Amino acid sequence: MAEFIPDEKRIQNTIDNYKRVKSQVEEAALKAGRSPDDVRLMCVTKTVEAEYINPVLDLGADLIGENRVQEYLGKKDALHLDGVERHLIGHLQTNKVRQIVGEVDMIESVDSIKLAREISKQSAKIGTDTNVLVEVNVGREDSKSGIFAEQLEELLFQIAELDRIKVRGLMTIPPICDENEVRKYFSEVHSLFENLKGKDIRNVNMEILSMGMSGDYEAAILEGSNIVRVGSAIFGARKYF
Ligand SMILES: *Cc1c(COP(=O)(O)O)cnc(C)c1O
Repeated sequence: MAEFIPDEKRIQNTIDNYKRVKSQVEEAALKAGRSPDDVRLMCVTKTVEAEYINPVLDLGADLIGENRVQEYLGKKDALHLDGVERHLIGHLQTNKVRQIVGEVDMIESVDSIKLAREISKQSAKIGTDTNVLVEVNVGREDSKSGIFAEQLEELLFQIAELDRIKVRGLMTIPPICDENEVRKYFSEVHSLFENLKGKDIRNVNMEILSMGMSGDYEAAILEGSNIVRVGSAIFGARKYF
């Protein structure tokens, strides 16, 4: 295999982008009347080689998100992951659960009781608890994973009966739309989140609201997000392979 030689200019751009996004996230938090510490910046590293991810981790980035189980497992040993939290954010098939439980700190994309049961089962097998978010399909799009708002409570009550799985909050990807409209979607999920916070459901602790990506993270923060998942604004446009 030919040696991979990273592009120095791209490394420098990535570092500059990370610093800029980091300070924009802090500014948005202040603008929302919140503490900058209240909002975490996740670097979404899918399709990005370790050579471009590590410089950002070395700067202190402490949260990464990956979409695919195979891709993450294939590159994790090359990453500088000391003190870094790892989340799986892509759609997860039941038959891949066994490989990822214990390898990440959170699975953000739980959207069925079948998936939750498998996470519970595989976590019990290795004697660990797995933190998850429930993914909400706020725009009711066929093309997206996630459950509809009205299915949320029932799923949480079903998860309440399982062991070794802890719901820590909600995640969403809104439809592509203009800024006003996207804020309405974010606001809707924020309301669901706040409403569930008040309920006492076993295994459920509403702390994390993961919403906002490269194009809309400021809007998401203004509507209450506390994790923004940013990929292309940091690493550049993705090349799919
Ligand atoms: C790819 C991805 C992101 C990041 O998208 P960008 O627009 O590149 O910031 C965030 N969340 C999920 C679930 C993703 O799959």
